[in-house]
Amino acid sequence: MIDPFGRAIQYLRVSVTDRCDLRCVYCMSEDMTFLPKNELLSLEELDRMCSTFIELGVKKLRITGGEPLVRKNVLGLFESLGRHLKTGALNELTLTTNGTQLAKFAEPLRAAGVERINISLDSLDATRFKTITRWGNHAQVIDGIRAAKAAGLKVKINTVAMRSVNEDEFDQLVDWCGAEGFDLVFIETMPMGDISGDRTDQYLPLSLVRARLESRWTLTAIPDNTGGPARYTRCSETGGRVGFITPMTHNFCESCNRVRLTCTGTLYMCLGQDDAADLRTPLRTSESNAALINAIHDAIVRKPKGHDFIIDRRQNKPAVNRHMSVTGG
Ligand code: SAM
Ligand code: SF4
Repeated sequence: MIDPFGRAIQYLRVSVTDRCDLRCVYCMSEDMTFLPKNELLSLEELDRMCSTFIELGVKKLRITGGEPLVRKNVLGLFESLGRHLKTGALNELTLTTNGTQLAKFAEPLRAAGVERINISLDSLDATRFKTITRWGNHAQVIDGIRAAKAAGLKVKINTVAMRSVNEDEFDQLVDWCGAEGFDLVFIETMPMGDISGDRTDQYLPLSLVRARLESRWTLTAIPDNTGGPARYTRCSETGGRVGFITPMTHNFCESCNRVRLTCTGTLYMCLGQDDAADLRTPLRTSESNAALINAIHDAIVRKPKGHDFIIDRRQNKPAVNRHMSVTGG
């Protein structure tokens, strides 16, 4: 799958549910309305979708959400997709999770072939963690992170950088991740979906975060070849990697190799644009994959060159109306 700008599409992110057991302030409002369960693709349909993309050249699959580990029987999906790792058709099967369910799932995920995992953690302080996630239990997530480490999963911590919320603990996070052997990636808040609050107050440019970190740590840029938006550095003092995802201040679209599938079978060719393709209808029209493959090819041809997120201070409207939990992070 090569798009009109010559980018080979090899990375698929799949949101397996829009539901979540947390309500992070930058992601959801507390009274979120979720999709009726009957609109979701079944796990068998998700497997068929993913397997078709793999047949078409996808090498890396990330399962996300909402919270992927709250989807009923989701482990079965990992176990069945693991077959593509065994044949070599797929290079990597991974997930992004809030960590609440990891104490239970870390080992079986590792057994299914998952080697690396992204875990979101915005604070090391239990009270603050609760304020950010509204419903979260910090100890439960830390237990989950420890279980992932113990199961042999390579852990990357994702931290959303928020002004006046967690900006005073970034040094501590670098220190802790370095000591635990985890990569750490800072993320800027993106204007996605109505959250019943004002995002402009939370926005903290990572250029500032990085400059502040560099007054304490020696961060040396290292090449990143994932085609993703993260820019990585190596921290000399801890030996760990520290990355920065800067969709608001940095243009990473030229190397974008990914597309995103929602839990209802809608394919978004760009996280920051509204254009999308319905793949559920072609999937359900026939048991053969021919119509689905055609629809995927038609969609890839429409992948835009890039996005242009802005947080509009005058209108205070999200740049993209759907929540991050719909297309997955
Ligand atoms: N529930 C899982 C989790 O939290 O890791 C997976 C889905 S979540 C939508 C994926 C990532 O997106 C998380 O790291 C989260 O912090 C991030 N995220 C959610 N909404 C965001 C926003 N508006 N701006 C920036 N990052 C966001
Ligand atoms: Fe749930 Fe993840 Fe969104 Fe937090 S960021 S509310 S954990 S989907």
